[in-house]
Amino acid sequence: VSPGIARGKAFIYHSSPWGSIPRSQIGREEVGAEIVRFESALEKSALELEALESNLKTQLGDVESGIFEAHLSLLRDPEFVRRIKQRVHSDLVNVGHAVELQIQDLERALAAVGNEYLRERSQDIRDVGRRLLNHLSPPADGRGASLSSVPPGSIVIAEELLPSDTVELDRPNVAALVTAKGGGTSHAAILARALGLPYITGIADATQLISPGDTVLVNGESETVTVAPSTEQAAAFSEAKMHYDEQTRRIVDAEFEECVTRDGVRIALFANIGRLDDCNFVKGHYLAGVGLFRTEFLFMREPAPPSLDKHHQAYSAAARALHPLPIVIRTLDLGGDKQPAFLKARDSGKVFRGLRFSLAEPELFNTQLRAILRAADQHRNVRVLFPMVLGSEDFRQAIETLQAIGRQEQIKSLPPVGAMIETPSAVFTINEILERADFISIGTNDLTQFMLAADRNAAGLNDEYSVLQPSILRAIASVSEAAQSKGRGVCICGEAAGDPKIAALMVGMGIRELSMSPTRAARVRYLLRRVCVAVLKKRAQKALQAKEANSVKEAIHDLPD
Ligand code: PEP
Ligand code: MG
Repeated sequence: VSPGIARGKAFIYHSSPWGSIPRSQIGREEVGAEIVRFESALEKSALELEALESNLKTQLGDVESGIFEAHLSLLRDPEFVRRIKQRVHSDLVNVGHAVELQIQDLERALAAVGNEYLRERSQDIRDVGRRLLNHLSPPADGRGASLSSVPPGSIVIAEELLPSDTVELDRPNVAALVTAKGGGTSHAAILARALGLPYITGIADATQLISPGDTVLVNGESETVTVAPSTEQAAAFSEAKMHYDEQTRRIVDAEFEECVTRDGVRIALFANIGRLDDCNFVKGHYLAGVGLFRTEFLFMREPAPPSLDKHHQAYSAAARALHPLPIVIRTLDLGGDKQPAFLKARDSGKVFRGLRFSLAEPELFNTQLRAILRAADQHRNVRVLFPMVLGSEDFRQAIETLQAIGRQEQIKSLPPVGAMIETPSAVFTINEILERADFISIGTNDLTQFMLAADRNAAGLNDEYSVLQPSILRAIASVSEAAQSKGRGVCICGEAAGDPKIAALMVGMGIRELSMSPTRAARVRYLLRRVCVAVLKKRAQKALQAKEANSVKEAIHDLPD
């Protein structure tokens, strides 16, 4: 979940015990003292979090420090505090136990959510709980010893890493992370990527299989963890590492260069973002703008539907930050497994995701469109994109809604409007969609999941490579040809666009715009500057005729790294 190659000695980390605070009955006269203890633990935890947040800000800027702001807001949530105090009062239990029960309640609520991103936030809740408990009853047995001082060259092996484990890391002494639990969108993974730490997750029983002091080789490229390597394994690893480190240096040094192929074809690289802070990445990685702003992530935790003002502030701030570069704002992609807090309170009964969900929620949708139109009218660099378009009917309704709001707002020229092509339904109705679309954006993440009957959130599924199924490639090719023949822009914005060789294949298929996680752009750019479109076209022809995914891989595997 975070790239890189490292060698080191295993440091087995057991985070402090969680779920082990015994219940003890207290007398009514002890309640006051328990509450005072709780308040002091709250205070100390808040001070710690403020310090962590400001440290992280200095290290990494605003982008990642928001994690601890979220922890602080849970600590300061009056409802959270009230329920814990109430438990102590009414059940006459020790406050540690009351904290534990409250954290478990919150975790249970999150575990029931289908959305992977939200489920992983239960890590944050446990992290806050652990911090409080550490102040209420500090662990005596050395467990939970912090990761802030570990021997040099440590590979940290843990069952799970909570955000504060990662941020307290003794960065210069840690070479890599290996855990059993935790996904690619966990905060630990996000932080590891920001800190440039290789991180492999999904190694079940890692803390039992690996012993303290074992030599461990972590290879994020081959996605392997080797324990106690043989001489040959060690030699092969050293070579891979040397090659990787050298290449990384070259790639980062060349990041400011234009993204132009050897035969002079310019490819525009854009950023996929989900938070306002991510706008900083665009200039930092020399990108051409934002190709996909996933607006639903702004509001996932909101207890009430966002107001017009809230929407507008976000879009206007993003458009201003990027100006004059373009920003594609995607309307809320909700429904299915993407359920924000404000929708969970009621069973909406709506089974569709994306645009059809929005069309069935006119108040929510119209508020968002109005805010986007206002931001577009102010800043002029905004484009609108509808997710999960199914065909002519839903897309027409969306555009008509946008036009009607534009008239109400007396906006003379509407921003360009695009459709995401990420359902098989849209692939087969592309011509009708193109009659109305100014541009299209191909979402390979969902397109592969719906075409291949694969769950994109399942651990172990390598989404990027499922794009190499002949059926998916042919779908992308036919959609992109249809768009080009009508002179419409086509962008690929699924994760596949961030894989250098797959991105090159897409360029061979005629794609000139790629939108990806910003940190992946450097490698894509580096490869594209070293190849000719003429050669990529031939590879793409071969790939499009392939009968099986393996032959597609063969068509691209020898492209330069
Ligand atoms: C996609 O499906 O490829 C895409 C970019 O949209 P998201 O990942 O937000 O569903
Ligand atoms: Mg999608």
